[in-house]
Amino acid sequence: MQASMQEFPLRVSEIIDHAALLHPDRPVFGRSIEGPILETNWRDIHTDAKKFAAALISLGLKKGDVVGVMAWNTPRHLSVWYGIPGAGGINHTLNPRLFADQLVYIINHAQDRFLMVDFDLLPIIENIIDQLPLVEKIIVMTDREHMPDSNIPDLLCYEELITPQPEGFDWVQGDETEACGICYTSGTTGDPKGVVYTHRSNVLHAMANCAADSASSNDRIMPVVPLFHANGWSIAYSAPMVGASMVMPGRDMTPKGLFEMLELGVTLTAAVPTIWMQLLQYLEENNLQLPNLEKVIIGGASCPRSVVETFQNKYDVQVLHAWGMTEMSPLGTICSFKPEIMEMDAKNRLDIQETVGHAPFSVSLKISDDAGTELPWDGKTQGRLWTKGAAVVKRYLKQDNDAVDANGWFDTGDMASITPQGYVRITDRSKDVIKSGGEWISSIALENCAVGHPLVAEAAAIGVPHPKWDERPILVIIAAGDTLPDKSEIMALMAQSFAKWQLPDDIIFMDEIPHTATGKISKLLLRKKLADQGYELPL
Ligand code: AMP
Repeated sequence: MQASMQEFPLRVSEIIDHAALLHPDRPVFGRSIEGPILETNWRDIHTDAKKFAAALISLGLKKGDVVGVMAWNTPRHLSVWYGIPGAGGINHTLNPRLFADQLVYIINHAQDRFLMVDFDLLPIIENIIDQLPLVEKIIVMTDREHMPDSNIPDLLCYEELITPQPEGFDWVQGDETEACGICYTSGTTGDPKGVVYTHRSNVLHAMANCAADSASSNDRIMPVVPLFHANGWSIAYSAPMVGASMVMPGRDMTPKGLFEMLELGVTLTAAVPTIWMQLLQYLEENNLQLPNLEKVIIGGASCPRSVVETFQNKYDVQVLHAWGMTEMSPLGTICSFKPEIMEMDAKNRLDIQETVGHAPFSVSLKISDDAGTELPWDGKTQGRLWTKGAAVVKRYLKQDNDAVDANGWFDTGDMASITPQGYVRITDRSKDVIKSGGEWISSIALENCAVGHPLVAEAAAIGVPHPKWDERPILVIIAAGDTLPDKSEIMALMAQSFAKWQLPDDIIFMDEIPHTATGKISKLLLRKKLADQGYELPL
């Protein structure tokens, strides 16, 4: 039978068109990089996105070209977010906190042709520009007055580029399965891996997000999570999709700066736990309240029970604990306030909120043992957590093999148990990674550096729980001979290659490190061994 329905292109430009048509005056506030807090709305963001798309085309952007963007969360970034795919380009988000060699790697690997950068971040690009042979044009996201002096010739000024453009630009059309954005995951060891989102996956994911978070046009949403982290948790898509108002916090991530932005009437906000722990401390010290805030999404790392408790009991703010990954666009599960949770007493509710909730529509999950046998959802049995879905990676950029098994399941590298009702508890990681304050630290890089010391035979870097940063790296070392290397010497060696926040908080000597059957260090067993020994991080 021939079906009767029209084909509606699931392209992200449709989202911003919708917001501009039906929610044109909804305010979008933002702390500009130039300084002041400004107010705009979806109509003007849409207009600027179209002008910027026209400007990109006039600069020679071709369909499928990659544009790297290193920028804070501002309304201008929202116009860029839609302007790039609207011109047929691919938006490659760049995390300014990455190490220079990682930035060079991902910009070259994704073949970024143009770069966009906030003016305060330009020095990062200046530092690496001679290693970026494919980059043709650099656009500084500011006006002429704030264009910095630079050793890079021919810098383009964003406001000057868009001002003369006509308003009626028609978005570049195409198939919904075309690439729309790229985000690299530096979570695993080795080189970062590129996850390429399609227009379709971003639209479907945003719809799933809206359904799960219950954001609406009555909300004023502040993404504290940067747009360069894991597809910006999709908030730059889901907020205009529901016609919500927004607050973009800019670069000031201090609790004081964030509180000032929350005071603009934010009802829903989202970030990693570390941000919220600092904010709660600031509120306490300054005897402040959160009268407007209704919900806070906390994810990217496990959220301590005390944070949930304080938000809910002291400030009357619902916590939505979420789990996800760059590879999942990123939402995997969210613990939203369903009726059965609302009815619970405080203790049972907190017990449930220690899980990361359940999957939204379009995300499938299962747990298995190491041999791949599926395990029951009994709330007790732990296994490897696998996923499948409409916005889950299939193959990393330029890799020869799929990232999924023969049945299409992607191994998340997390360990979990699942209750009969589908609530997921993340219990550990099978992947070899360390995440501190929401940013990854490469364990293999730490290990390779440490074994550069002549007295070190083997090194294993693992993350251990930390009350403020969620996790901090420690280094376990096997000495090469009878003489133990000096800890301060190893630290000094590592300080030559790593930023201070990436250095291990402790170095421990062991006689033996547990290995897997294939001879790799078993981080799972090593973490267990340390826990059994009652190891505690020196604070
Ligand atoms: P990323 O791709 O940077 O978003 O990192 C994804 C990884 O962060 C996941 O695979 C988990 O290991 C970790 N993660 C994210 N959310 C949570 C959470 N709520 N609890 C525990 N770990 C989390």
